[in-house]
Amino acid sequence: MDITGDLLIGFKSDSRADRPLHGVNPSTLETLAPGFIIATDADVAQAADLAWEAFLAYRQISLDKRADFLTAIAQNIVDLGDTLVARAVAETGLTATRIETERTRTVFQLRLFAEVVRAGEFLDRRVDPALPHRQPIPKPELRLRQIGLGPVAVFGSSNFPLAFSSAGGDTVSALAAGCPVIIKGHPAHPGTGELVARCIIDAARSTGMPDGVISFLMGGVETGKALVSHPRIKAVGFTGSRAGGLALCALAAARPEPIPVYAEMSSVNPVLLLPAAIANRSEEIAKGYVASLTLGAGQFCTNPGIVLALDGPELDGFIAHAGAALAQVEPAPMLTDRIHATFQAGVAAIAKNPKVVAEAQSAAAQGPTRSEARIFGTTAEAFLADADLGEEIFGAASLVVRCRDVADIIAVLDHMEGQLTATLHLDDADFPLAQQLTPHLELKAGRLLVNGWPTNVEVSSAMVHGGPFPATSDSRSTSVGTMAIRRFLRPVSYQNFPTALLPDDLK
Ligand code: NAP
Repeated sequence: MDITGDLLIGFKSDSRADRPLHGVNPSTLETLAPGFIIATDADVAQAADLAWEAFLAYRQISLDKRADFLTAIAQNIVDLGDTLVARAVAETGLTATRIETERTRTVFQLRLFAEVVRAGEFLDRRVDPALPHRQPIPKPELRLRQIGLGPVAVFGSSNFPLAFSSAGGDTVSALAAGCPVIIKGHPAHPGTGELVARCIIDAARSTGMPDGVISFLMGGVETGKALVSHPRIKAVGFTGSRAGGLALCALAAARPEPIPVYAEMSSVNPVLLLPAAIANRSEEIAKGYVASLTLGAGQFCTNPGIVLALDGPELDGFIAHAGAALAQVEPAPMLTDRIHATFQAGVAAIAKNPKVVAEAQSAAAQGPTRSEARIFGTTAEAFLADADLGEEIFGAASLVVRCRDVADIIAVLDHMEGQLTATLHLDDADFPLAQQLTPHLELKAGRLLVNGWPTNVEVSSAMVHGGPFPATSDSRSTSVGTMAIRRFLRPVSYQNFPTALLPDDLK
């Protein structure tokens, strides 16, 4: 399959001379061919109008056929083989192993959602029988089901070129819900985005889906704004910066018809080291911490950015073990020059803070877009006094907060913003403290972990990858796992409908 740089509006490939946008290899800063077209407002409108037409047909297609469409996408992605892996590696600087793992996850996710669609439980069908003789007034028969919201705009994310981009979690959950998708590809991996989008288009053709069920547009901020503003778009899925997410939320709320934006933005994912665990297993926990911190150059929304523990010799020992492990880590390239520059600025700012000490760092960075991974330290008192210390530094940087007592730990937790995850490292003797802390953690995060690391996010039915603001713009939802489908559904109730007029789902 070739990468053309064309706009893919439904089944039509739109070619033009002007192609200013290029992928860049962050390992070498080499510009990659081909150039990509920037979608104009007119292109966005064409894709959105077509998506609406497609929606009217797609939502009526049987669940089995919809599921076939999703499994065909999965197979097409598998069939791309090394073409996809090589392009994604070149555009992102991530390793082939990481890309292959992400492909496995993406394919699994598509097949899982196909099962969800076939099972039909997401329709949440309910029947309240009529009580015609109820006094003082009869009760009508009510039947309920969920239907798709309409076309969804999905912003591909920079840090998951497969699992959160063209055929990622937002796209698959929207398609599963019966909603066409317009993808705004991320400029960090336009070729990867196009290859996968073509897999979706080919699957749509081969399984008889309507033209416009999927479109793929590249562009800049203006393209994204035009998409979110278009009246035919009924919801938005986004993963990226807080500033970007908030801008899209504001835009969506200001439309004549406001629409939901499911934005996953920023999280520092506190990890709490409880006293018995740190006394008994300091080295093992430290190694796990460094592995999680530096995975993918730290470019995970679930990166362990803050560690909380009681101050003392055990914590000093933990930091020494973490420092020894970190010194062995060779810095990997970051996804883009811009993300690298933002990381460096974040590290420079925290390093200058007089209340912060540098605790450890990785081997020296060599080559473009690489930076040393860093561990910093501070006190609970300083953390509570300076809101900047609680902000995400996207990349491999983490801050250990030394707490004088349990009250300090609780004060720091209560002071923190909303998070995707919160983690407890504990042994049996820590159970009473864990019981005391858990209610505080529940109010802060979407997923609570024990003796694990937050960077692994399982795709399953009980997963929550969400959390209070600024982790997401809507804490009632998840962007990973089967429950993600709920974001793109709305309930419709049918009162006293004769059977012949009911939708087949409800007969
Ligand atoms: P981003 O700057 O938020 O961009 C994500 C997508 O949204 C891009 O397609 C971007 O378009 C678009 N966009 C951003 N602001 C917009 C606006 N005001 N209006 C319309 N569209 C807008 O995120 P990024 O490029 O992935 O990385 C930048 C920073 O985001 C990172 O340094 C990191 O701090 C953060 N980040 C966080 C996570 C996380 O999971 N927590 C993940 C990735 C990134 P253009 O690129 O075309 O401008």
